[in-house]
Amino acid sequence: MPRTTRAPQPAYRPRVMLTATRSVYRVESERMPGVTYRVDAVAGTCTCPAGQWEKPCKHARIGLMVWEAQRQMCLAARNGVTTTEAAGAFPVAA
Ligand SMILES: [Zn+2]
Repeated sequence: MPRTTRAPQPAYRPRVMLTATRSVYRVESERMPGVTYRVDAVAGTCTCPAGQWEKPCKHARIGLMVWEAQRQMCLAARNGVTTTEAAGAFPVAA
């Protein structure tokens, strides 16, 4: 029996930049820092090579998670509740 089990690490935590369109983000590449892909969280599209072939990619998944977190924050703010959980889910840089 193994003494330690390796927990899956959320290794890919890219920088996410907002755009003029609320549901569109620029998500930084995992292997090429400084390179960003345009992710439309609502359409589920991404401009990375995988996304070009309409394959589900990690950028689109990140974009969707940020979109969900922002919606949660928006709803919480409307209800007068502050959620640091949603805010801390991803580092969002404007
Ligand atoms: Zn992608």
